[in-house]
Amino acid sequence: MRRHQTAKPMRRCIACRESKPQDELMRFTVQNGGLRADGAIPAEGRGFYLCRDRDCIDAAIKRKAFNRALRRSVDADEVARVIDEAFNNN
Ligand SMILES: [Zn+2]
Repeated sequence: MRRHQTAKPMRRCIACRESKPQDELMRFTVQNGGLRADGAIPAEGRGFYLCRDRDCIDAAIKRKAFNRALRRSVDADEVARVIDEAFNNN
């Protein structure tokens, strides 16, 4: 399948490592020590991207892929809760 070249910024999912247009991914950042889902305007700070896909979410949580992306250890249960919430709101 041929795809048009677009100027959309591409970002990589931390679970499947595929590059996709930014607006197809969910972005999360750590702020004030807690993880939160970004809205339309990305927040400052270290963050990561995930596909809007249950498989990628589960894989990221299972492998704790976000610890590497954030360069710090975060509570996996807390991360899973924030990601789930964001996924269910979309
Ligand atoms: Zn993915």
